[in-house]
Amino acid sequence: MVRKADPFWEAVGSFGVGSVFVLPEWVAGRAEETPPPPPGDIRGQMDILREQVEGCMKCPLGRTRNNTVFGEGNPRSGILVIGEGPGATEDETGRPFVGRSGKLLDKIFESIGLNRECLFIANIVKCRPPNNRAPLPLEAEICGRYLHRQMEIMKPGIIVALGASAARHILDTKRGIGVLREEFHTYRDVPVLVTYHPAALLRSPLLKRPVWEDMKKLKAFLDSAGLPRKEGS
Ligand code: SF4
Ligand code: URA
Repeated sequence: MVRKADPFWEAVGSFGVGSVFVLPEWVAGRAEETPPPPPGDIRGQMDILREQVEGCMKCPLGRTRNNTVFGEGNPRSGILVIGEGPGATEDETGRPFVGRSGKLLDKIFESIGLNRECLFIANIVKCRPPNNRAPLPLEAEICGRYLHRQMEIMKPGIIVALGASAARHILDTKRGIGVLREEFHTYRDVPVLVTYHPAALLRSPLLKRPVWEDMKKLKAFLDSAGLPRKEGS
């Protein structure tokens, strides 16, 4: 019988518990977690990856974090926003861009009609670098595999890279952000728009104008590409 080959049934059997005593809700609970979600189940795939990240200790940042910050928003939207790494508030809450920079970022996107349900926000590294330093190249490389998996699952129609760290990592370049934001780039055939990180804006308000220019470019692109994708499309 199929049951014999299943370690769950063997364990239950070894306690002398026959199928008569197996509560229906156990079976229902197991049925939910056993089959992997089909490729089209984007939220299901993301949830599995999120669990892997929550237990991750693959780089030294895992030792000093309080919470991993997987990313959040709508993975079906087609718009992927990439920051650098969690700060103190993000490390406390487990959510991306919830501190001062995050509040500003929300306002920037609201100016072109986007809220958090219209995009998915993630970072290059999922654990906070001590003292908010930039992630080291090795940390970015190791943790970047999760980001790439997020991209594979999400299949975004556009990537918005916030700041030099994010842009340089995904575009594999050392060029400065001033140059990078001048044109669209591509990463694995996905268009990439580079703009300043909201933390830079908080430090220098003069960057507001170029960021507004970038948002107008983004809005024009979204309109022509039919993004964000509607739920169910
Ligand atoms: Fe794992 Fe990324 Fe955290 Fe490093 S930063 S421990 S790779 S989740
Ligand atoms: N800065 C980032 O780059 N990411 C966050 O999640 C918060 C602040």
